[in-house]
Amino acid sequence: MKRIIIALFALVAGASSVAAGGLSPADDLPKQDLRLLQISNAIMAANASLCDRTMPDLGVALQSTDQYSGGGAPPFAAPVAFAEVIPGSAAARAGIARDDGLIAIDGKAIAKRPGLERAPLRDSAFAMLADHPAGTPLVLDIARGTERREVSLQARPECRALVEVLADDGNTAHSDGRVIQISYGLASRADDRQLAAMFAHELGHLVLHHRDRLSAAGVKKGLLGSLGRDRRLNLQAEAEADRMSVYLLANAGIDPRAGPGLWRSPLGRRISSGHQSGADRAKLMDAEIAAHLTGPPPYVPTDLLAQRTQPMR
Ligand SMILES: [Zn+2]
Repeated sequence: MKRIIIALFALVAGASSVAAGGLSPADDLPKQDLRLLQISNAIMAANASLCDRTMPDLGVALQSTDQYSGGGAPPFAAPVAFAEVIPGSAAARAGIARDDGLIAIDGKAIAKRPGLERAPLRDSAFAMLADHPAGTPLVLDIARGTERREVSLQARPECRALVEVLADDGNTAHSDGRVIQISYGLASRADDRQLAAMFAHELGHLVLHHRDRLSAAGVKKGLLGSLGRDRRLNLQAEAEADRMSVYLLANAGIDPRAGPGLWRSPLGRRISSGHQSGADRAKLMDAEIAAHLTGPPPYVPTDLLAQRTQPMR
């Protein structure tokens, strides 16, 4: 009940008045989580055909109790649970609600997967979900309170990514090939178009397999990767993700000019250090929109998609 009251209050208070209204970031976090889930879900579903790694589009965020310390976990019905359910989504239509527990997927109990032993249990549940073969009914064992029931549903595919708002007031957007994280600070300072543009850029990295391709090329991350060939290839990946982002936005029915608009805004200029200048990024995206995003959707960046199986050099 407490969560619901907090969420309603956050909705009334609005993101821009977080500080003025005395609402702490912790209280507003579920609102930003749901907002990012709705924006990211629309983009991931509309672009499924551009993604070679997909998962069932349930319209949910999963969390596990091991992501919370000191007994602060929400009242989940099982160690892995639905932290958010988008109204009208495949999960909502199947009667799944927030805080319901997820016990098993396709008859297999949720358990840690090889390679994810040190990650939250949620990550293993997500990997099990993503492994579900497209086009077959998805069977979920659901817990609510002490009740258990089995739900069978047909979900369309969407691009595969684990998306979450990080409990951090800084300006971070990050993807590692599997997870896309946007910090609470950045999400709460961005309007919907800006948040969509940031997310589309990070999804662009995933669609084009940048993490795998940069690792295969021996490119270092962060500051270590800011020199010579590493710098060149890192910037190449950034430019490709920027170009990709306008297609991802347009296919989802979002004005692709949200991309260049972000980098020309005060928020974009503040977060563009480290990459190339915001003005250059905006110009590159303007050119892509003018050259390729005319006529009706879908918009398919054939040259970029051909790159994703090629080594970066
Ligand atoms: Zn990037």
